Amino acid sequence: MQVTFLGTGGAVPTTRRNTSALMVRREGERLLFDCGEGTQRQMMRFGTGFSISHVFLSHLHGDHVLGLPGLCQTLDFNDREEALAIHTPPGTKSAVENLVGVTGARPGYPIRVHEVQPGGVALREDEYEVRAFETDHRTRSVGYALVEDDRKGRFDRERAEELGVPAGPLFSKLHEGNPVELDDGTVVDPEQVVGEPRPGRRIVYTGDTRPTAATAEAASDADLLIHEASFAEDRSERAGKTGHSTARQAADLATRADAKRLALTHVSSRYAGESDRLAAEAREVFDDAFLPDDGDDIEIPYPDG
Ligand SMILES: [Zn+2]
Ligand SMILES: [Zn+2]
Repeated sequence: MQVTFLGTGGAVPTTRRNTSALMVRREGERLLFDCGEGTQRQMMRFGTGFSISHVFLSHLHGDHVLGLPGLCQTLDFNDREEALAIHTPPGTKSAVENLVGVTGARPGYPIRVHEVQPGGVALREDEYEVRAFETDHRTRSVGYALVEDDRKGRFDRERAEELGVPAGPLFSKLHEGNPVELDDGTVVDPEQVVGEPRPGRRIVYTGDTRPTAATAEAASDADLLIHEASFAEDRSERAGKTGHSTARQAADLATRADAKRLALTHVSSRYAGESDRLAAEAREVFDDAFLPDDGDDIEIPYPDG
């Protein structure tokens, strides 16, 4: 699973940081989180590919959604046929439909807009789900947690052979969780040869928000928490007033949640050239905090390697 930071800037883009967007690639599937203006060019620059299946919007401020009409048009020029699903906070469906249809052109592929429920599941797939959680901004907003299912425990091949199970289909049967009967009538149970289920990975993206308990809960043990950090600590009052967080607040939350890594994004344009300050403030409380640049991508390994 790979996360690409397409836009790490705040409400106003700078030459170095575009407005918000994040791509997650998992087993060939592409999920886009937020879509600030110019996101499609960032996707080209950083080679993420365009075959996205789902877009998840955190809220409807321009720096998170204005890239949608252009992206949808380009997908149409690319002769896309598959449906595109757009997930958006409660009460914003018709605004998103209007935004996407603003030019009056109808794309040749279906666009389906779904309102998500905080605390609910926005998308359920075979091996993972994307959950929405409540955030606290100046408008209706949500964050998203991509949570993989537990994986099967490790299969102990040696132990299975010791028990007399012949290599082959019976191995898979046991690994799938079914008991098998051997030729001599002995029954081998899966628990004898399969270890404990292994946890999957968890990535959490907040969008714009003040620090919240719901975020800490969603980010509990997360492999990667991507938290907005609009401001440095000297502007904490302003952060609170405008529905944002400071880098240190994000780091406090990552500590509370016991997240493994913290990526700070949505950096205000006022910190152009001195954004290292934000990372330094965060690292005073949380070691594994970093401030990605546009185009950085990181691989998320399984917790047990
Ligand atoms: Zn924003
Ligand atoms: Zn906002």
